[in-house]
Amino acid sequence: MFLKNLFSPLKLAAAIDLGGTNTTLALVDQQGKLHHRSIFSTKDFAAPVDFVNSMSGAIEKAIRELGDYNPRLQGIGVGAPNSHARLRVLEQPVNLPWSGVVPLAAMFEDRMQCRASLINDAQAAALGELHFGDGRLMDDFLFVTLGTGIGSAMIANGQLIQGQAGFAGELGHVIMEQNGRACNCGRKGCLETYVAANGLVATYKQLRDTDTLESNHALNAEGVFQAARTGDKHAIAAFNSTGEMLGRALANSVAISNPAAIFLFGGLTQAGDFLWRPVRQAFEKNLMSIYRSHVQIRPSGVPSKEAALLGAASLIFND
Ligand SMILES: [Zn+2]
Repeated sequence: MFLKNLFSPLKLAAAIDLGGTNTTLALVDQQGKLHHRSIFSTKDFAAPVDFVNSMSGAIEKAIRELGDYNPRLQGIGVGAPNSHARLRVLEQPVNLPWSGVVPLAAMFEDRMQCRASLINDAQAAALGELHFGDGRLMDDFLFVTLGTGIGSAMIANGQLIQGQAGFAGELGHVIMEQNGRACNCGRKGCLETYVAANGLVATYKQLRDTDTLESNHALNAEGVFQAARTGDKHAIAAFNSTGEMLGRALANSVAISNPAAIFLFGGLTQAGDFLWRPVRQAFEKNLMSIYRSHVQIRPSGVPSKEAALLGAASLIFND
């Protein structure tokens, strides 16, 4: 024990993945190994100060429990929707139980007397890929999360591209259809309204309800997937339509960012060939000829439950 403490004090970052439903806290070392993980219901925190106090107490307790390893907390990294990385605040977090502008990084620094950093959730997952996933071997890639909505981030020259306000690389709000579906951003026809889980379901309903053979499958993305597996032609067509538009959008993004690869991440990527085949077909078809066969679309190399945590930790270890 003495030798272990003397020669290898464990340097840890506390990583927090703050989501609309659940919040995950982890202690992560510099090799990306998780030494603790706990999950909380985000809705239990009525105010940001409750959240900061609860997380801080949980961090302190988890570190005490690792006492044999003489751990040193290097800082706290938080991945959260609607994060303004430069201002270190959450801005109008619509999916969280709080409103207004929340100076979350400064609140953690006051409470824990250590450094804290904040980044949006998709960018956190992209950093997880860059530092601990297959992206370690690349300087340039796009990272796209396909969940309820779309999140995306761009790594170029080995760095996360954040842009003036931290929103760079947001592919979900590229307009794909003039006067198309209404988007949460206030415009119409954004990629997110077609290609994320809700978009897939909307396309399925549209196709199914215009046909006389109405089916009774549950109307969520999992239900559409199960319907496709049983041969439901509308479900298969919905995946084809979704994949075609995503592949086309990704081909366009290559013209701007010249990546070595595009990583797809999130629940929808579990749909196998129903999604991947049309994505890859439309991607190759719409790529500029100089890029054909040179840009891979591949699944993320980081476990889905760890990507944002690892990226949030990397904010502390790699800053
Ligand atoms: Zn939009």
